[in-house]
Amino acid sequence: MTARILDGAGTATALLAEVADRVSALRAAGTTPRLATVLVGDDGASRTYVQMKVNRCADVGIDSLRVDLGGGITTSELVGAISELSADPTVHGILLQHPVPGHINERAAFEAIAPEKDVDGVTLTSFAAMSLGVPGFQSCTPGGIVRLLDAHGVELRGRNSVVVGRSPILGLPMGMLLLRRDATVTYCHSRTVDLADVVRRSDLVVAAVGRPDFIQPAWIKPGAVVVDAGYNAGNRGDVDPAAADVADWFTPVPGGVGPMTIATLLEQTVVAAERCHGAGA
Ligand code: NAP
Repeated sequence: MTARILDGAGTATALLAEVADRVSALRAAGTTPRLATVLVGDDGASRTYVQMKVNRCADVGIDSLRVDLGGGITTSELVGAISELSADPTVHGILLQHPVPGHINERAAFEAIAPEKDVDGVTLTSFAAMSLGVPGFQSCTPGGIVRLLDAHGVELRGRNSVVVGRSPILGLPMGMLLLRRDATVTYCHSRTVDLADVVRRSDLVVAAVGRPDFIQPAWIKPGAVVVDAGYNAGNRGDVDPAAADVADWFTPVPGGVGPMTIATLLEQTVVAAERCHGAGA
């Protein structure tokens, strides 16, 4: 490997240390930040992701409230459960673990999250704020990726960038954040013609596809920055790790984007609690 490592694990540890200090200050002032996690069904990977978030909350002193719901729940029951959390003054942030079972209207469930508690950045309000560059919560994985690039001094302005994937929680907001930072952004997806050629012309590649080792080393422009947001079974990302022989910067999997996602979630939870505390709640 010749690429320099975009060290998500180390950057997240530093960020979480700052979060822990802010949590201590809030607790001393009488407010305990609290994150509610909502899990629907018994998907093993989703359960693991929720547990990781709950563990990190405990590390920094954030309370968690786990709401685990059966996979047979209806959309209106889920909306009801999330609405209760939105109205609960002891809850500062709400995370609905994605994906939910196919029969659920995920958008309706996301929209039941009060915007001031949308610390995972999934509501229409958050997406609009992110896209327009006005204050609001960011989608955690894209927000964490920008933070990681900034921490390593990677200049985004004017950079020819491609985001492979356009999901509402990852690819789409990723491109919006890069655009806000004056990158020149191309989106690719399952209908893109000659994906390899588009990637080959890009100085920054963000892979958000959900297919192990999908992006090939031969597609990478020498000296490009490669961010692998994918996380697949067996600790495999969406980029063939041999791409690190061509790239200038590269995110490892694990230890790249994943820890930044969680650190961003916890930081935004503290921001929500600070705002609530400041408002006298
Ligand atoms: P998703 O909702 O399934 O979206 C996948 C995207 O990839 C879609 O936009 C799809 O295009 C595109 N795609 C699929 N096949 C393609 C192909 N052959 N060529 C080009 N594009 C293709 O997945 P997601 O939720 O965004 O997650 C993507 C990956 O990120 C997964 O590995 C997931 O585990 C990972 N992830 C990691 C974190 C983290 O914290 N590290 C957080 C969230 C997700 P269409 O729109 O045309 O269908």
